[in-house]
Amino acid sequence: MSSFSMHGVGVSSGIAIGHAHLISHALLEVVHFTIEASAVAQEIARFQRAIHLVKLDLEQLKAQLPANAPAELAAFIGTHLAMLCDKSLSEAPIAIIEAERCNAEWALKQQMDDIVAQFDAIEDVYLRERKQDVMQVVERVIKVLLGRHQHTAEKKQHAKQERAMILVAHDISPADAIQFKHHQFAAFITDVGGVTSHTAILARSLNIPSIVALQRARGLISDGELMIVDGAQGVVIVNPGPEVLSEYQLKQNQWQLAQQKLQRIKATKALTVDGVAIELLANIEVPEDVLSAKAAGAAGVGLYRTEFLFMNRRDMPDEEEQFEAYRYVAEAMKGMPVTIRTLDIGADKQLNPDEVVTATNPALGLRAVRYCLSEPQVFHTQFRALLRASHYGRVNILIPMLSNLNELRQTKLLLQRAKEALRKEGVPFDEGIRLGGMIEVPAAAISADAFSQALDFLSIGTNDLIQYTLAIDRADDAVAHLYNPLHPAVLKLIQLTIQAAHKHGKPVSVCGEMAGDTRLTRLLIGMGMRQLSMHPAHILSVKSHILQSEAAVLAKQAKKILALSDLDKIEPLINRWNGQAMS
Ligand code: PEP
Ligand code: MG
Repeated sequence: MSSFSMHGVGVSSGIAIGHAHLISHALLEVVHFTIEASAVAQEIARFQRAIHLVKLDLEQLKAQLPANAPAELAAFIGTHLAMLCDKSLSEAPIAIIEAERCNAEWALKQQMDDIVAQFDAIEDVYLRERKQDVMQVVERVIKVLLGRHQHTAEKKQHAKQERAMILVAHDISPADAIQFKHHQFAAFITDVGGVTSHTAILARSLNIPSIVALQRARGLISDGELMIVDGAQGVVIVNPGPEVLSEYQLKQNQWQLAQQKLQRIKATKALTVDGVAIELLANIEVPEDVLSAKAAGAAGVGLYRTEFLFMNRRDMPDEEEQFEAYRYVAEAMKGMPVTIRTLDIGADKQLNPDEVVTATNPALGLRAVRYCLSEPQVFHTQFRALLRASHYGRVNILIPMLSNLNELRQTKLLLQRAKEALRKEGVPFDEGIRLGGMIEVPAAAISADAFSQALDFLSIGTNDLIQYTLAIDRADDAVAHLYNPLHPAVLKLIQLTIQAAHKHGKPVSVCGEMAGDTRLTRLLIGMGMRQLSMHPAHILSVKSHILQSEAAVLAKQAKKILALSDLDKIEPLINRWNGQAMS
C-alpha cells in the first residue's frame, strides 16, 4: 500500500487518525458486471441476505419508535416494509440475476427503474409520488449490497469503532450532514465544498477535524485505508508510514492537551485586559446542541438555525412539534438569551432532498424570508410556535436575509397577527419579545441605519454577506480561494452595520463563521463588536484571545486596517498583529 497525501481546505481543526469510511449516494454508484454461471446461486443468496437485513432493520426501527413519534413515521416505515416484502422487489430481481447473470445491485436497479416507470404513468399525484418510497427502499438494499450498511444493533456495538472512522465523501448535502450529528466519526473530508458552505458549518459543529475541496479523495481513497487528517493544515495522509504516524500521534496528544487546558477558562468572564465585556454565544442546529453550548460556557444561544427541523422529511413540522423544539432550547438555557432564526431555507439548504432545484441561481432566489413571505401560513405557524416558546425562556426572533424594509414591514404584520391570535386564545407569550434582523445582504448593510431603527437588534451573517458582496458562491470550491472575510469591501460593510447599530443604541452581533475564527477576534473587537456567536467548540479559544487583548489598543489597530483598501496589505498586517499578540 503506497502512502500519499492530499491537500484541501481545512474547515475544522484537530488531528484524527482512523480508517476511511466511504459514503455516497448508493444509487448513483451501481455498476454492472456479469458473473460466472457457477456464482449465480451465491449472488442470489447475497441478494436475499440484503433484503433480510434491511427488513430486520426496518422492523427494529419501527419497534423502537418513541411513543410520541409522529404517526406518519410508523406509517412510512410500514410502507417501506410492505414494499420490501412485495414480490416485485424481493423476487423479480432474482429472475433477472438468473436470466442476465448480472450482479445483484444491477438486477435490483433494473427492477427499480421498471417500477418507477410504472409509477410515473400513474395520474394520481399522491400515488405517483410513492415512487420515492420505492427508490428509498432500494437504496437501503443497495447500501447493504455495497457493504455500507450497518444494522441498527450493529451500529450501537460499533459506536466505539466509529470514533476512529473517517468519513470520506464526494459531496454531502446539509440535510445528510445533519444526520452525522448522531454518529461519532473521527473526521470528515469531502472532495468539494467551500469553507462556509452549510455542510462545512455542520462539520465544524461536530467538533471533529474536517477538510473540504480535496478534489479526488473519494476516488483515490479506498474503504478501510488508514489515514491521518490534519484539519488545521487541510492535509490528509493516506497509509502513513510508522514515523509519520507517530509524529502525528504526538501532535494529536498535544492538541488534545491544549483543548483540555482551555477548559480552565470555561467559567472565566470574557473580559479584555482593560475590562471590556464580550458576550460569547453559541450557534446551534438542533435542540440537543444546547448541551455543548452549556458545556462551553456560552452566555446564551446567538443563532438557532431552525431549518434543520424542516429537513429530511416530506411534511412540515406542525406548530406543536416546533413549539416543543423551541421550548426545549428556551428552558434548557435557563433565562439566558436564545435567539431563534426563522426558517432560512433555499440555496444549498433544500427542504426535501428529493426535490429538484430548478432555479438558475438558487442563492439569489426564493430563500429565507422571501420564501416565508411567499408561504404566509408556514411563517404564521412558526411565529405562533416561537411566541408560545417565549413564555418559557428569553426568546428573541431573528429574520434571515432581509434586503429591504418592505419585507420587514410584512414580517412584522404577520408576527402581529400571530400575537393577536394567541392573545384571543388566551395563550401566554412574552409581550416584550425582541425582533432582530440578519444583515447578510450588502443592501441590508448599506441600509443598516434604517434597519437599526426598525429592529430591536442586528446580527451580521458574514457567511452570506461575503458571498453576496464578493459574488462568490460559498459552496463552490472552485472559487473558495477568493472567499475572504478580510476583503476591504466586507470590512467596510461590517463597520457600517456596527456604526449604525451603535448610533441607535441597538445591540449588534456577528453570527457568521467569522465570529469563531480566532484570527479575526481582535479585529472584530477593535471594530466595536461586543457580541460574537459561534459554534460551541470555538468559544473557549476565542475567549482565550479576548483575555489577552486590550480593547483600546485593538480599536487603534482596527482603524489602521479599515483605512486600507488593498487585501494584500491587510492580510500581512492581521498576521503580524496576531503573531505579536501570541508571542
Ligand atoms: C450567515 O450567513 O453568516 C449565517 C450565519 O447564516 P447561514 O450560515 O445559516 O446562512
Ligand atoms: Mg446566512
